[in-house]
Amino acid sequence: MIVTSCCLKTSVQSAGQLPRDGFPQIAFMGRSNVGKSSLINRLLGRKGLARTSKTPGRTRALHFFLVNGRCYFVDLPGYGYAKVPRPMREEWKGFVESYLEGRGPDLAVVLTDARRPPTPLDRELVDWLRAAGVPHTVVLTKADKLSRRELLPASRQAGAALGLPSDLPPLPVSAVSGDGVPALWRTIDDACSRRRSPEPVPSSDDDGASHRPNPRHQALTTPEIPASRRMRP
Ligand code: GDP
Repeated sequence: MIVTSCCLKTSVQSAGQLPRDGFPQIAFMGRSNVGKSSLINRLLGRKGLARTSKTPGRTRALHFFLVNGRCYFVDLPGYGYAKVPRPMREEWKGFVESYLEGRGPDLAVVLTDARRPPTPLDRELVDWLRAAGVPHTVVLTKADKLSRRELLPASRQAGAALGLPSDLPPLPVSAVSGDGVPALWRTIDDACSRRRSPEPVPSSDDDGASHRPNPRHQALTTPEIPASRRMRP
C-alpha cells in the first residue's frame, strides 16, 4: 500500500469509545521499548506520528491512526513496564482483552526484540491470541542490530520460544534500514483485503453486539490450544 494520508483519528480509553465504522484494524503490540512507535512511523513513512516513548508504559490508550481513509493502525500500549501500578494494569488488561475478544483487530502484529529472547509475557500474548482466534503475525524488531548470519538463528529461536510452527518464523524488520517493511506491508494488505465488506454502523440502540466474540477470527499461525489462558496484567 502506498501511504498517501494518515492521521491520528482517535485515542480510546474505554470500550464505548472504540470506532465502529468497519474499517480494517491492524493492531501493534509488544513490550515497552520494543520499537513499536518507530516501526509504525516507518510503515507509514511519517516521522513522529506514533510517539516514540521516553517514558515506557505511560500512555494508557489505544491510538487509532486512519491510513489512506481505508484502514486503522491501532497502537496498543507497551506491556511489561513494572512502574505501572498493578491495579492500573488490571483495569487496562480488562479493556485490552475486551477489545481483542470483541470486534478485535483483523491482524495483530506482535513485536519482539531481535536481540533478546521473547519474554514469558510475549509467549503469553501469542498463546492468548491463538486461543482467542485473533489473526496474528510476529516480527523481530531492530533487525539491523544483528548480522545477517545472526538473524536466521535468532528468528528460529524466537519462533520456537513463542510456539510458532517452524515454517512460519518471525519476520525480521528494521525501522532504521527498512528491512522487512515491504514484506510486513504485504501481510497487512492481505489482512485488509480479507475484510471485504465493512460492518454496518450500529444504531444508537445497539446492544453491544459488536463487542461479542467474532467468528470470522482465524489464527494465521498455529493450531488451537485450550482457551483457558488469560493475559497477565
Ligand atoms: P516503543 O516504546 O516500543 O514505541 O519503542 P520506540 O519506537 O520508542 O523505540 C525504542 C528505542 O529503540 C528508541 O531508542 C528507538 O530509536 C530504538 N529503535 C526502534 N526501532 C529500531 C530499529 O529498527 N533499529 C534500531 N537500531 N533502533 C530502533
